[in-house]
Amino acid sequence: MYVLDSSAFINEYHTDEQIATIPLVRDELEDEAAYRFDALEGSGMHLHIPEDNTVERIERAASETGDLAELSETDIRLIAAAFELDSRLVTDDYAMQNVAEKLDVAVEVIAREGISEQRDWLFQCAGCGREFDENRDRCPICGSSLSRKNPA
Ligand SMILES: [Zn+2]
Repeated sequence: MYVLDSSAFINEYHTDEQIATIPLVRDELEDEAAYRFDALEGSGMHLHIPEDNTVERIERAASETGDLAELSETDIRLIAAAFELDSRLVTDDYAMQNVAEKLDVAVEVIAREGISEQRDWLFQCAGCGREFDENRDRCPICGSSLSRKNPA
């Protein structure tokens, strides 16, 4: 099962796997993307409403990774749905990918022709100031926490 976020409908993501999403995604779609949603729902797409305690669990994980401020209600519920359904989350959103990884939810990036995935995020240690190109729980040098930094 694949759980689709709004951008998957906008970018005409296609898979032969069973798909699911949450009702809130429909509100973010317009025109063709909204018709696509309705057509997929008509042909068996599963609409899932995650439990409140799962949503809270995702929010806790997102605050641990430092992504909570960047996630909408819809984003959080999509991760919760993928978590509950034990399915892959389809999204290009970096903050969602980050939180999904933390919860061992598999992520599928929406392939766009000719554009390779670029992840230019840097993570900087609050203690020694060293920069890393991947997030870690702690700085391996001094043990302080890392925070995300926009590349200049
Ligand atoms: Zn450090």
